[in-house]
Amino acid sequence: MLGFLHKRGQKKCTQAPLSIILELPRNKERIGAACTMNFTMDLPGLKGVKVTKMEEREDFIALHVEMPRTPHRCPSCGERTERIHDYRIQKVQHLKLFERWVYLFYRKRRYACRCGKRFAEKACFVERYQRQTVEWNQAFRLRLIQGKNFTDTANQFQTSVTTAMRRFDQLAAPPREEGGSPSSSDCD
Ligand SMILES: [Zn+2]
Repeated sequence: MLGFLHKRGQKKCTQAPLSIILELPRNKERIGAACTMNFTMDLPGLKGVKVTKMEEREDFIALHVEMPRTPHRCPSCGERTERIHDYRIQKVQHLKLFERWVYLFYRKRRYACRCGKRFAEKACFVERYQRQTVEWNQAFRLRLIQGKNFTDTANQFQTSVTTAMRRFDQLAAPPREEGGSPSSSDCD
């Protein structure tokens, strides 16, 4: 299933489409061999996510992903809509694949309702305002409990000691209601 990782030389793999390069104007890194593709991910933590392109960067794998377009219920008036307002690219850290870190370049869609409300689509692999995937957070929390110390765990997960300490404190705190986050029933 993961044979695409080694298909760089094949015809299917092309330079990144211009549209995608234009969407990442702040990314100064050389864009390496890129594989344009279009399939739905079936890896843990990325179920139902559409992968449009994969690139091998210097020290990580970049997966360009988006969610399928589906009718969403407007949080303001309750009407259903699938009218697209716009897209934003959000860089999200994921777990390792073959010992290389994976970053998702998530093309996050916003819908527009007839009532004027604009809102982000549901995406179960990342929570609102998070820079890491849900799967990353689960693995990180487990390591915080089992790991030697915060510094070691932070290094292993390519994050800061401050983040490690903050997440550890959250483990002890009672679960809070997160308004706007997808509920578990949306994400099964
Ligand atoms: Zn509405």
